[in-house]
Amino acid sequence: MAGRKKLRMGSGGYCICPKCGERVPHQAGTPCIETRCPSCGGKMLREGSDHHKAAQKRK
Ligand SMILES: [Zn+2]
Repeated sequence: MAGRKKLRMGSGGYCICPKCGERVPHQAGTPCIETRCPSCGGKMLREGSDHHKAAQKRK
């Protein structure tokens, strides 16, 4: 992981809630996982991240 502080995923992007599917614009400087879902209060994931993809697979 050394030397990979910032993955370029483009500016903007969204955080998505794996529980209810709520999407909110990603806040620069705040990781999605520290962003609370405005609908259910759960932790959010960066849309398109490996975590998000994994969450989508198990339904
Ligand atoms: Zn939610």
